[in-house]
Amino acid sequence: MADPERLKQAWDEFLLEALDWERVVREWRVAPRATPADLRVHLYSRFDLARGMPVDTLFLRVREELRAALTHVTHPRYFGLFNPSVRPAAVLGDALASLYNAQLAAWGHGAAAIELERLALETLGRGIGFEGASSAGIHATFTSGGNEANLSALQCALAHRYPQWAAVGARGLPPVRIYVSELGHHSVLKAARMSGLGDRSVLELPCDARQRLDATALREAIETDRAEGIEPLMVVGTAGTTGFGSIDPLPMIGGIARGYGAWFHVDAAWGGAASVSKRLREALDGIAQADSVTWDAHKWLSVPIGAGMFFCRHPAAAARAFAVQTGYMPPAAGELGAEPYAVTAQWTRRALGLKVVMALGELGLDGYARLIERQADLGETLRKLLKRDGWSIVNDTPLPVVCFTNDALREGAPEPATVVERIQQRGACWISSLPWRGEPVLRACITSYQTTELDLEVLLAELRECARP
Ligand SMILES: *Cc1c(COP(=O)(O)O)cnc(C)c1O
Repeated sequence: MADPERLKQAWDEFLLEALDWERVVREWRVAPRATPADLRVHLYSRFDLARGMPVDTLFLRVREELRAALTHVTHPRYFGLFNPSVRPAAVLGDALASLYNAQLAAWGHGAAAIELERLALETLGRGIGFEGASSAGIHATFTSGGNEANLSALQCALAHRYPQWAAVGARGLPPVRIYVSELGHHSVLKAARMSGLGDRSVLELPCDARQRLDATALREAIETDRAEGIEPLMVVGTAGTTGFGSIDPLPMIGGIARGYGAWFHVDAAWGGAASVSKRLREALDGIAQADSVTWDAHKWLSVPIGAGMFFCRHPAAAARAFAVQTGYMPPAAGELGAEPYAVTAQWTRRALGLKVVMALGELGLDGYARLIERQADLGETLRKLLKRDGWSIVNDTPLPVVCFTNDALREGAPEPATVVERIQQRGACWISSLPWRGEPVLRACITSYQTTELDLEVLLAELRECARP
């Protein structure tokens, strides 16, 4: 049934598009106009997956649907939610992972992929003070994303603090608390649920006017909890909040966490990438004190989705949290230490990190730093252009997320949601809105290494057009 000519046809099409991607994607609307009901009717009538069809025809049809009904996050004017444009080298790495179907559960199966990943983790880990991923000193692994990394952090914290946890579960523990700012990521809430601790174990603390966790509130909350017999298990500092890009005062809250014997986790899912730049690294000051760090390569390292990173200073905690013994897995790799499946949340695991190996290997750290700094500079330019046009900036971060409003929007004429809707409808740009202190504001993030000053001018023109009363 597989026809080599047709297969080649499909690959040729793929290659043509991949080589010309930046130009191709620029021509399209950033976001589709599809509604769920219409799209479903359309797709279900067009595809009969039960029947089978030639691969090149199928490829072209699937591609056509993706073109028409995806938000194109690799569009240079997608000013969105931390979804990057992807480096071509990373796409090659991902393709290799698929073709070879590397299995990283056990060293014997995934040897070269596991060690290449480790090299990438070691190289990137240095910037955040987690050197040693190649030795036994640091536990580091690629994860499906930040959600899994944050879950891993919580489970390591539990295993570290309560050696009995792996055996008896949450029921066998005293009441515990996890502290995170009101602007922290809600994957922390999911992690608490998945660990059997529940939402009430998570305390969301207020932020100051600069969108940073209020350290005094943290200290008071811990004191209150302790007086009531609730143990401070973990303090989460966010380095680059999803909404505002703000960075919690890591040295201060890390110090508080340590003072109370709590695990200090830094969620740097997006902001972690600032560490590759000598200039921007200081914004992450204090991250090296963390017990663990979440850093997504698929946020700001410009690789395809499906690559988080988890760094942990306590390999024994990871071993305790995830250890299992089986007779059906290959025997342990001896001097190399624990098998991946026995120290991480996943079992069968794709070679998620190969795309990072390829992107990093091509650019080097300096090349990466230039991309990151260029995007930070564009964020600065965007702030200036917005001020020029009478907008006021409401967030405070050296990273390229810009949240803004003006008097008309404050008075609801038009509503910020209406501005967003108009802009998305027109298709030239994509931005979002979110609430700050009870009022919605607009949000634009430089997510693509291919965004230019001209793209920013397009955004400003769209804002002028769409923010009219
Ligand atoms: C995106 C994000 C996460 C969740 O990561 P996923 O890769 O989406 O699972 C966690 N924390 C922060 C701060 C994020 O921005």
